[in-house]
Amino acid sequence: MCYRKYSDFLREKFGEKVYKLPIKLNLTCPNRDGTCGFGGCIFCGEEGGSFENIDGDIKSQLIKNKEHIRKRYKANKYISYFQNFTNTYMPIDDFKKSIRESLIDDVVGVSISTRPDCLGEEYLDFLEEINRDYFVTVELGLQTSNYHSLKKLNRGHTLAEFIDACIKLKKKNINICAHVIIGLPWDIDLDVIETAKILNVLKVDEVKIHALYIMDGTVLADMYKRGEIETISLEDYKRKVILFLRHLNNDIIIERIIGRAPSENSLFCNWDTSWWKIRDDIVEIMQQNNYCQGDLAKGE
Ligand code: SF4
Repeated sequence: MCYRKYSDFLREKFGEKVYKLPIKLNLTCPNRDGTCGFGGCIFCGEEGGSFENIDGDIKSQLIKNKEHIRKRYKANKYISYFQNFTNTYMPIDDFKKSIRESLIDDVVGVSISTRPDCLGEEYLDFLEEINRDYFVTVELGLQTSNYHSLKKLNRGHTLAEFIDACIKLKKKNINICAHVIIGLPWDIDLDVIETAKILNVLKVDEVKIHALYIMDGTVLADMYKRGEIETISLEDYKRKVILFLRHLNNDIIIERIIGRAPSENSLFCNWDTSWWKIRDDIVEIMQQNNYCQGDLAKGE
């Protein structure tokens, strides 16, 4: 394989297939309620980054998803995945209770999505404790290393907070997954390369790559309707993802090379092409050209 696939990594680590079980909590985000910003990131919809249609308490969400995945993929091991909004933006006791509730039978790990500027010491200490028995990953949105693009996205943090969060997580030996958006209208190829290099030096463990999607009702959608931004072409997306992968160290695990945003309520989503077709095309181009992850990462 021309890049290090997450599913292969999980199979090596746990000796069998492992699937993530999404959990959706009734939360918000400090970038929405005025704590660090108002309105949220310009691309973030009402669901706060989660597209799964699940309800109920943590245990019932897990059981429901587990049954579905067990039947479909014959999996026996799972990672509970706190997916929407900012999952460390709740009182510490609620956080501990939620994480503990998610550690049901067959769960071997827990992934927590959050912002880089929202990782207090108590949360890190607790995660360090859980990490002794479970595979803990903190998923941090970076999106891009370009300061100006981060401002335009209204992220409410810059690269500095991301670096700070990675240093703190590394000290606790907690796995880090960085989310990046390839093909932001303001980013050039150098930004794509620089983002890969930053992730290399921070020794991030995993990366999730997304294309920019435009959900109706967001600030980004308004900008799109007014003609203030242009999306890149699918061919350019594939080219930029390959550029990114070639500059990314080959030991970094790639959880996704394209996101799976829903086409409902979206003005623009993955060029109306299925994510697996885009992934297969990227792999084919890389194989045809003898490219592989990290082949341009050294000696720059
Ligand atoms: S940090 Fe995440 S949850 Fe908060 S506004 Fe941005 S994308 Fe949405």
